[in-house]
Amino acid sequence: MNVYNIGDVTSLLHAIHFAAIQHKDQKRKGKYPVPYINHPLEVVNILVTAGVTDLHTMIAAILHDTVEDTNTTLDALRAEFGIEVSNIVAEVTDDKNLLKAERKQLQIVHAPELSDGAKLIKIADKISNIEDIVNNPPKSWSLQRKLDYLDWAQKVVAGCRGINHTLEAKFDATVQYASTSLTAKVKK
Ligand code: ZN
Repeated sequence: MNVYNIGDVTSLLHAIHFAAIQHKDQKRKGKYPVPYINHPLEVVNILVTAGVTDLHTMIAAILHDTVEDTNTTLDALRAEFGIEVSNIVAEVTDDKNLLKAERKQLQIVHAPELSDGAKLIKIADKISNIEDIVNNPPKSWSLQRKLDYLDWAQKVVAGCRGINHTLEAKFDATVQYASTSLTAKVKK
């Protein structure tokens, strides 16, 4: 399903408005305070730039952190945006009842089973997070923690490949850029 008409644009704007309200009190983890909504907007921008036009995937990308990080429920998303969108968001939502290490391991294990839309969002999400780790990292993160994130992200993305070559190339370039600049900072 492609974005071709005003109804689709309206749906996208509705999702952006909804996500902005849900994330309104949150900031990204970086040392410079950035509104959280910038992140899902960046994720959908990365997808569009890579040629993704599926409307459900774009809307789910905008909403991808609302269930995991705000009090939004999947039922609310289904009522507002339909079952296709809420299903994709469910796929990219970690179970917060599990320990963090377990959740991270499950992302690697489950990646190959995800729908195409969920795989694309996973890759774009990791690109956005890695860019933040280089450009505006959380103050408390050591170099090792940043490198561990890069390593883990590559393992998750390994299970998401084969759908959009442009997006995968962008991920690979981002990892390359991140590891070069993170290790260059150490050598200085
Ligand atoms: Zn995210």
